Amino acid sequence: RTSVNDPYSRGTLRTKTVEDILTPLKDCFMLASSAVLDFSTMSEIMQSGYTRVPIYEEERSNIVEILYVKDLALVDPDDCTPMTTITKFYNHPLHFVFNDTKLDAMLEEFKKGNSHMAIVQKVNNEGEGDPFYEVLGLVTLEDVIEEIIKSE
Ligand code: ATP
Ligand code: ATP
Repeated sequence: RTSVNDPYSRGTLRTKTVEDILTPLKDCFMLASSAVLDFSTMSEIMQSGYTRVPIYEEERSNIVEILYVKDLALVDPDDCTPMTTITKFYNHPLHFVFNDTKLDAMLEEFKKGNSHMAIVQKVNNEGEGDPFYEVLGLVTLEDVIEEIIKSE
C-alpha cells in the first residue's frame, strides 16, 4: 500500500510492470494490413471506439504498423483505399517495450511524447527452439494512469 503523502504512488509504479496491466493480444482490436478501407471496414473502426488500431501482417502476433482514427478524416470509403496506403503515408512510430518494464519507466516513456501506446513483448525461451519475441498485448498511457488512480 502506498503512502498518502506519495501523490504519484511511486510504490506501485516502481513494482508493477506493464505485463500486469496490459490489454491481452486476444482482446486487442486490430486489422490486417491487407484490409481495404471500404465502408464496412471504416464502420468497424468507428464502432470499435478506439483511437489507435494496431495493424498486423499475416498473423495477429506480427504487428507492423499503427492506424490512428484521425488518419481516416480524408479517406472516402467509395475509393476503397488499401490500408497500407494510409499507414505508409502517416507512418506513425510503433513502440515496443518488454514485459518487465516498470510502470514508472513506462510513464517516463509516454511523457517523452510521440506515442501513448506501446506493444508489449517478451523473450520466449520456453521449449526446444531458439528464443523468439512474443507479443503479449498493448499498453496505453490510460492504463498507467488508471493504476495511479487505483492506488491512491
Ligand atoms: P483515447 O482515450 O486517447 O481516445 P482510446 O479510448 O482508444 O484512446 P485509451 O484511452 O488509450 O484508448 O485506452 C483505454 C483502454 O483501451 C486501455 O485499457 C487500453 O489498453 C485499451 N485499448 C486501447 N486501444 C485498444 C485497441 N485497439 N484494442 C483493444 N484495447 C485497446
Ligand atoms: P489526442 O492526444 O487524444 O490525439 P489531442 O492531441 O488533440 O488529442 P490532447 O492530447 O488531449 O489533444 O491535448 C494536448 C494539448 O492540446 C492540451 O494542452 C490541450 O488542452 C490542447 N488542446 C486539445 N484540443 C485543443 C483545441 N481544439 N484547441 C487548442 N488546444 C487544444
